[in-house]
Order: sequence, then structure tokens, then C-alpha cells
Amino acid sequence: MVSIKSKKEIERMREAGKILARVHQELGQALKPGMSTWEVDKLGERIIRDFGCIPSFKNYNGFPASICVSVNDEVVHGIPDRHRILQEGDIVSLDAGVIWKGYHSDAARTHGIGQISPQARKLIEVTEQCFYEGIKYAKAGNHLNDISTAIQRYAESFGYGVVRDLVGHGIGSRLHEDPEVPNFSQKKRGVRLRPGMTLAIEPMINEGRYDVVWLDNDWTVVTDDGSLSAHYENTILITDGEPEILSLP
Ligand code: MG
Repeated sequence: MVSIKSKKEIERMREAGKILARVHQELGQALKPGMSTWEVDKLGERIIRDFGCIPSFKNYNGFPASICVSVNDEVVHGIPDRHRILQEGDIVSLDAGVIWKGYHSDAARTHGIGQISPQARKLIEVTEQCFYEGIKYAKAGNHLNDISTAIQRYAESFGYGVVRDLVGHGIGSRLHEDPEVPNFSQKKRGVRLRPGMTLAIEPMINEGRYDVVWLDNDWTVVTDDGSLSAHYENTILITDGEPEILSLP
């Protein structure tokens, strides 16, 4: 069942989103070579709690941290580690969620550490643009698959692989709600979009093939061919007109 949020719920999700945008800004600015992914998580958790929020991911299904920190060929769910040190030229995806007055917001950004290769820069930019290509169709009366198809088409026009094994999702009082939001075209049109639906749209794009594998920690997903991967996500609201991106400043 896809829930339609009330005015009050939407207001809380707006507030959560604004806070999460600030968390990403502050955390993104703090990244530098020599920092461990554990330090990234500790700083992220402190920023979230300083805003009076609870980190959505901490202990979610047993996830041991507040921020997913995924480096280079790690697609998502990188587990922060004292011994994993960010190096000049790395790309790092930060996925974070906050709970504010019982409502979640979820967003991801991919950053370059110091100077990165032009190929890595392009992957990050195209992944972000995939989100914007998708939400051109995030309008009442359209169907979910219109968003999925637009994301896939744009990513594949650059020869990139669109991850199949992980998808976006509805969001609200729970982190993951119906519907699933794939980044690739389905046979079905999917649910019809209605004002008041809130979705986390999150392209996960590989420089190479779309296949991924899980590491032995049962969390971290990496590209099967070792190629770089980028992630970009926002929580959005379907309205009567243009979609509202909740997790931007
Ligand atoms: Mg998400």
C-alpha cells in the first residue's frame, strides 16, 4: 500500500529534509584525504544529533553505523572502518537518513576526495543528473515506471550500468515503504503517482557493468567488475505540479 501523507506529515518531512540537506553540506565539506570512514560516520552522527534528530540507519536491520560510507567500487552500504582511510583521487558516496518527529528523510551524495579523474567526475555528474532526469516524470497522473525508464535511458546513453539489485523506495514514518522505485524500466507501468506520495529516488550507477556482489559482511555491495560506482538520492514529494525535492537546502 502506498501511503498518502497528510499536511502535518508533509510538514515534518520537509523539516527532516532541510536538516538532512544541512547534514550533507557539513559532512561533504569536512571530507579530506587521510580521514577514516569511521571518522566520517562519527562526525555525521554528531551533526545529525546536534540538529535534534535520530540517525535513521543506526541499527536499522543491524547496520552498525549512522552513515553508509561507500568508497570507489563500493556501491552502497559501506561500513565505516577505522582502517579505511580516504585517499586523494577516491570517490566516496555518503548515504544518510534522519528521523525528525517520527518522520524520515533519506539522501545520498557522491564526493571526490581532492583531485579525481575526469572519468570519475563525469560518473558523479551523470549519476546526479539521472535523478533529475527521473523526476521530470515525478508528476501526478504519471506512473512509477516513467521515472525508472528516464533514469535508465539517461545512464545507459553514457554506457554506464544501472544497478538492478537495489532500488529506491517510498518513505515516511518508516524508512522503507511501498512502492519500490527501480532505476531501470519494468514491464509494468507501476503505481499511478498521486499528490502526497513521498519517494526516495536513488540512482546507483556503475562505470562498468551493472552486476554487483555482496561482501562477506553481508552489507557492503560492490561492483562485480571492480569499476567505480556513484550514488545520488533525494526524498521527494509528489504534488499537483512539479515535484518538491525535500532533502535540498
Ligand atoms: Mg534510500
